[in-house]
Amino acid sequence: MCYIIFVNNLQNEIIKTKKIYREIFLRSQEAIDFQIDAIKKQSLCNHCTKDCKIDFNKITAFQKFPPHCRYRFWQEAALNLLETKISKDIYEKIQTIEEKRKKYTCCRCSSCCRLASSEYSYEELKQRAKNGDKFAAEFVSIFVPYKDIEEPRKIYPEYVEMLEKEAEDINSIHFYYCPKLGADGLCTDYENRPDICRTFPNNPLISLPEKCAFSEWKHDVEIIALTLHALIDIIGFYKEKLKEALK
Ligand code: SF4
Ligand code: SF4
Repeated sequence: MCYIIFVNNLQNEIIKTKKIYREIFLRSQEAIDFQIDAIKKQSLCNHCTKDCKIDFNKITAFQKFPPHCRYRFWQEAALNLLETKISKDIYEKIQTIEEKRKKYTCCRCSSCCRLASSEYSYEELKQRAKNGDKFAAEFVSIFVPYKDIEEPRKIYPEYVEMLEKEAEDINSIHFYYCPKLGADGLCTDYENRPDICRTFPNNPLISLPEKCAFSEWKHDVEIIALTLHALIDIIGFYKEKLKEALK
């Protein structure tokens, strides 16, 4: 049994935990900057032209250097650092999150079948499905919207209350339920349930009901997941800037 309590957007979750995320982001950035700076000395200037004004103490890894300049080796080494050591770190964090998830098994509380939330309306989800969004397609294949917020409130008052406190605008959140859930709390179409049911929850940064057997996993790996996303954001941005500087 599974499915979806999703404020299905990392961004929403990051907003909720934005203070922690900002701190993690800055710390991770500082650590990456330190490593990039540490390899600068390996590409010392060989004074190829006498009138060169480039100052070792003032250069940044993202500026443009002349084609023959030795600091371009530094930029190449920095790019390599991001694509090897730091990417490996990212991969290891993903592995850790997945490994830790294996310790938990769905307890069939059916909370995720009774209530899913999304920043998208039903019409928007159907449109996204038409545009090829697989998640949206699976979602609208099983979930239907609640008439209003009072219906989900009757089922999970604490969850709706939590969203009311934490969401920037509660009116922008839409609530859904799956009609395939039987009166006995079991899925009536278990064999044919879509992947979103089979893999839920696959992201520790989504909102989970307290009852969910994966709540402990979420709490356990939340910091790792935030660090992971900070690293992905930073190296994505840095790689782009380095490639631009090396053009
Ligand atoms: S299809 Fe089954 S498992 Fe998936 S949400 Fe509906 S009732 Fe739950
Ligand atoms: S334990 Fe979690 S995944 Fe399983 S049914 Fe409950 S809410 Fe869904």
